[in-house]
Amino acid sequence: MIDALSRRDFLAGSMLALLAPGAFAESLSGEPIRFGLVTDVHFAKAPARGTRFYQESLAKLQEATSYFRETKTDCVIELGDLIDSAPGVDAKGERQFLEQINKVLTTGAPQTGYVFGNHCVGAVTKGDFLSTVGQKTGHRSFDVGPWHVVLLDACHKMDGTSYVPGNFTYDDTTIPDWQIDWLENDLKDTKKHTLVFCHQRLDWTTPERPLTGVASAPKVRKVLESSGKVRGVFMGHTHSNDASVVNGIPYVTLRAMVEGSGAESSGYSTLLAYPDGSLLLRGLRDQLSRKVG
Ligand SMILES: [Zn+2]
Repeated sequence: MIDALSRRDFLAGSMLALLAPGAFAESLSGEPIRFGLVTDVHFAKAPARGTRFYQESLAKLQEATSYFRETKTDCVIELGDLIDSAPGVDAKGERQFLEQINKVLTTGAPQTGYVFGNHCVGAVTKGDFLSTVGQKTGHRSFDVGPWHVVLLDACHKMDGTSYVPGNFTYDDTTIPDWQIDWLENDLKDTKKHTLVFCHQRLDWTTPERPLTGVASAPKVRKVLESSGKVRGVFMGHTHSNDASVVNGIPYVTLRAMVEGSGAESSGYSTLLAYPDGSLLLRGLRDQLSRKVG
């Protein structure tokens, strides 16, 4: 167990500690809200490239959503890169693939929240993506029982332009000031424990890891910290399990579903969110389980 803990997890103490599969019988008080989490599904009718098996994601997502249904999940959050582009397929075709994968996704729980990933808007516009899945904006917030949920949209270029197909690279990502103002007001307006979801990394700005985090992450983190309400931030984009604590807030990066061939090469999770603000992440397949905070 200790071998599996990274140095940062060690420094963080019990926050973000890894849990063995049987470690969920402990006595946290109250009935949790169950969030089903999936990220980087990258569904496309494209041949596998490197470690990404795009077409297998349909069956992997079917497994995840059956698990979510069986465990009576309250809300599924899809953390971005739900689709990818396939050679020779136009925007209309891509939209049909989005419909196909979304049909599976929405069977997991009575409600689903969508976070924009760079690949979601690589061939389909933000507007077309949103109208296909039935969500009004990329950034939004809503309540599930005693929990407040915030979805952020970091699919904006550092010059302030919103992503449209063909105008961006995956590493030019920021959350613009207007959205940070919205976030600040949204957090002021809630009294509930809050979860934040963003596709791109909000914890990547240390000299140790200089690359491709959200450019405005320090500003965003400051808003999250000063609210005193944020219990955990969940992300995707970099495809591997990772976690860190920044100024008392845990940041967890989830394992991509698209990586690897076969049902066992997958990752999804249930986030158990308790009324007192405690969080347990139950990982399935290659997703690690953690006590988040
Ligand atoms: Zn991805």
